[in-house]
Amino acid sequence: MVREQIDSRGISDEEVLRAMRKVPRHLFVDEALQNQAYADHPLPIGHGQTISQPYVVAMMTAILKVKPGMKVLEIGTGSGYQAAILAEIGADVYTVERIKPLYQMARQRFTQLKYFRIKTKLDDGTLGWPEQAPFERILVTAGGPDVPAPLLEQLSDPGILVIPVGEDRRYQQLLRLTREGGQVSRENMGSVAFVDLVGKFGW
Ligand code: SAH
Repeated sequence: MVREQIDSRGISDEEVLRAMRKVPRHLFVDEALQNQAYADHPLPIGHGQTISQPYVVAMMTAILKVKPGMKVLEIGTGSGYQAAILAEIGADVYTVERIKPLYQMARQRFTQLKYFRIKTKLDDGTLGWPEQAPFERILVTAGGPDVPAPLLEQLSDPGILVIPVGEDRRYQQLLRLTREGGQVSRENMGSVAFVDLVGKFGW
């Protein structure tokens, strides 16, 4: 998977490649789909949600520029796979999910795989996690109409926020917001297709 889908497409961040080699992706999908776990596409995880394509996880992680020991907020735990990749890089991960069965299943996986540095919360992630703010990195793995204001408020300086944003619900632009010296700059990293970010500051 890493050689054919990620390395070959130009992702060279060694820490990201190492994490993608290490995390057992088949344990983050239903048993019936385990034979497809390492294939080059997203997979359903129930409740109308998906685990992203491996390449998209690697690309999002690379553009987030995560370093060991950083405090990272993820919105949209889903299967827990992206959070596990961030934890494998050595980040302190805070991840929020709004669908209870997904939240519960992800928690079980984190315990089973001994990812004790991942903290989970069942809530509307468009509100962020104010009690734990600020965060050096924020990653949103669902697509909303705009950048939720609370997330930008909870981003430290310096800090990076990566989020798919689009007014058309079928696809989004992947934005990277970088805060430095009190200023926030925006970069468009390309088109992506994520499930809806649902909530007070989402759809
Ligand atoms: N990062 C996940 C991808 C899951 S898909 C993984 O690695 O598997 C996106 C997830 O975002 C879904 O589980 C969906 O329920 C969740 N989501 C959507 N809106 C949300 C919100 N406002 N707060 C928290 N989670 C949300």
